[in-house]
Amino acid sequence: MSTIAQRLNDINATLPAGVKLVAVSKFHPAEAIREAYDAGHRCFGESRAQELQAKYQELPQDIEWHFIGHLQTNKVKYIVPFVSLIHSVDSTRLLDEIERQAERAGRVVDCLLEVHVAQEDTKYGFSPAQCREFMASNDRAAYPHVRFRGIMGMASNTDDDAQVECEFAQLKQLFDDVRSDVADAETFDILSMGMSHDYLMAIGQGSNMVRIGTTIFGTREY
Ligand SMILES: *Cc1c(COP(=O)(O)O)cnc(C)c1O
Repeated sequence: MSTIAQRLNDINATLPAGVKLVAVSKFHPAEAIREAYDAGHRCFGESRAQELQAKYQELPQDIEWHFIGHLQTNKVKYIVPFVSLIHSVDSTRLLDEIERQAERAGRVVDCLLEVHVAQEDTKYGFSPAQCREFMASNDRAAYPHVRFRGIMGMASNTDDDAQVECEFAQLKQLFDDVRSDVADAETFDILSMGMSHDYLMAIGQGSNMVRIGTTIFGTREY
């Protein structure tokens, strides 16, 4: 049986320079994260606010914590004081609360807009058109404590590789279009796409941040 350290190593060997690995540790205990940490990994992704807060308190302070799941507005306060990147900003209502809590915490919080392109009728995320419209508008000025760093997306969960590639390509196109439009293109630089089963395809289409859980930590027990 391979260890977490070996699996991390195997994945890192497949990542081109410039692609960052978020090790998705949701539902796995702190000991599993500690094992990855001891192997040198520092960036972890969680999908529940209180679980993230507990792990933050228990584990070393130099870990970079990313939030990747649906975030309820009443949970924002638990993570804003320390979170490094929120991948899953799926509404302006959520942004309003992130802004409020970030101001209280005296921080500027890095965020990605979650954009929905998959066939499945997921409940969350901006459409590509809404994302373009929001990023081009003055509405952004209402969020001085939010730094818009890029886009996060997921492809359909299907064996149809052509469809998956097409969806990743759509996200890349959107990312490039928005980036060429915004004044702060220097820091609008993250395209988060790709998970255990499709990350190589995502990288092939231009992803520079992958979120991998199962391949590193094994199957989750909910
Ligand atoms: C759970 C999750 C992942 C990791 O998925 P794996 O298939 O375990 O690699 C990536 N992104 C998001 C948004 C997730 O919720």
